[in-house]
Amino acid sequence: TTVGPFKNEPFTDFTKEENKQAMQAAIAKVKQELGRDYPLHIGAEKIVTDAKIVSINPGNTGEVIGNMSKATQQLAEQAMQEALKTFETWKKVPATERAEYLLKAAELMRRRKHEFSAWMVLEAGKNWAEADADTAEAIDFMEFYAREMIRLSETNVHQPLTKIAGEDNRLTYIPLGVGVVIPPWNFPLAICVGMTTAAVVSGNTVVLKPASTTPVIAYQFVALMEEIGLPAGVINFVPGSGAEIGDYLTAHPKTRFISFTGSKEVGLRINRLAAETAPGQIWIKRVVAEMGGKDGIVVDETADLDAAAAAIVASAFGFQGQKCSAGSRAIVVEPVYDELVSKVAALTQKLEIGLPEHNYAVGPVIDKNSYDKILEYIEIGKGEGRLVAGGAKAGGDGYYIQPTVFADVDGKARIMQEEIFGPVLAMAKAKDWREAIAMYNDTEFGLTGSFFSSDEDRIAAALEEMHCGNLYVNRKCTGALVGVHPFGGFNMSGTDSKAGGHDYLLLFTQAKATSRKV
Ligand code: NAD
Repeated sequence: TTVGPFKNEPFTDFTKEENKQAMQAAIAKVKQELGRDYPLHIGAEKIVTDAKIVSINPGNTGEVIGNMSKATQQLAEQAMQEALKTFETWKKVPATERAEYLLKAAELMRRRKHEFSAWMVLEAGKNWAEADADTAEAIDFMEFYAREMIRLSETNVHQPLTKIAGEDNRLTYIPLGVGVVIPPWNFPLAICVGMTTAAVVSGNTVVLKPASTTPVIAYQFVALMEEIGLPAGVINFVPGSGAEIGDYLTAHPKTRFISFTGSKEVGLRINRLAAETAPGQIWIKRVVAEMGGKDGIVVDETADLDAAAAAIVASAFGFQGQKCSAGSRAIVVEPVYDELVSKVAALTQKLEIGLPEHNYAVGPVIDKNSYDKILEYIEIGKGEGRLVAGGAKAGGDGYYIQPTVFADVDGKARIMQEEIFGPVLAMAKAKDWREAIAMYNDTEFGLTGSFFSSDEDRIAAALEEMHCGNLYVNRKCTGALVGVHPFGGFNMSGTDSKAGGHDYLLLFTQAKATSRKV
């Protein structure tokens, strides 16, 4: 096979009438399909359970998106057995053939792009642009990892070996085994697709446990993989409770690796459980855990303040602040602090809140738990800072919260330290840019950050000193692109992997060195 170089999937321009109509048509089509029952996929079997996860539209809570079957430990065990059995054949499928499946799936998803996005508008509460970017990223992951697998499989290309006389030496990247894949709900398509296909294209089989608030969109992906002919048993789909089947699968002696993206709390729990050796287990489990963030934007007095304000607002409130990369802190130097706070407050107050299918800038947060937790943090914020925008729930038949900005927050305040994962921004004053960078670094996380300045020496210093996996200069701290900005954070933000980067598939393979006398 020859495949061209990787290119990012372009975003859709919804100011164009034809695109707007196509998206509206996709939403109408998906609305016709709401409320269905969905099965588990275990091997070739589709299993409907009595117990269901009822998925609802967070922006219109009376609307049921679908009723998802729910796996028990026994069904999780069955999925593990299917994955183990299928691994024996799947690992022998040539890498280029495995890559072909991803390319086919990417092609089909591209054709049905707006439909996939429409599911996210309705199930996750994304507005059109956010949903479109999520679908584009899912397509990118498949295109990128397909090419990466082909490259890794070419002998001595990824890691050229030193030649010696009398021997033919090779290094081959072989799969690990059965992986448990646990994605979050906030990129319900992109991250689910990226984590799953990276594992699968590397030759592993997986047990996929999707996030419980977005199982239907995950199902759409699983159905797509079936449609393009991926052999049964390569992806085994078992929605269910994290505590019940998540712990079970993590602790399972046959689990070879766990690929997790989600909160720090759950990531650390998985890491701890996976470190135990179960009876019969003959390997050390590999854990890839991408976790939370408390990302921030630093602005000095030489910066373009309008650009900085726009970036702060976009980073804080895009998808209601429910991104691991969300810029939930802004640290601004004293001389321009008051001016920037007013600009940010003004832009924030202009954001309109409403139903995602009508494409408002701000939609609902994901569920009742998040809603309550975020409103609690807003109350905490009222004791820790000066409220300059928002500060309360918003109207509507869903989990709507006003985009909220607190100024004059101390660097050690809870709303400067804890991941809120909602539309809440804390702004803090620093005496100069050095102190601002120190405040930025004063966190247990280290995922994304931005530095706004026009001073070359300071930019150089910031590039070196701001400690995070994805650092941007004079732009927002969200919106990483596959292949362009390999993504993943430091410290409590995760295990330092880089999704959408050239090192990523190494996490799902092991290298076998062979040496033959000639
Ligand atoms: P979460 O940790 O609550 O859930 C993530 C997944 O883990 C879900 O599928 C959930 O069902 C499952 N789970 C829960 N308990 C489990 C257990 N005991 N064993 C196994 N699985 C279990 O996170 P979330 O609310 O879905 O996602 C939001 C979080 O994800 C935020 O902290 C965000 O920063 C983070 N995130 C990080 C990245 C990144 O790349 N670093 C990307 C997106 C989201």
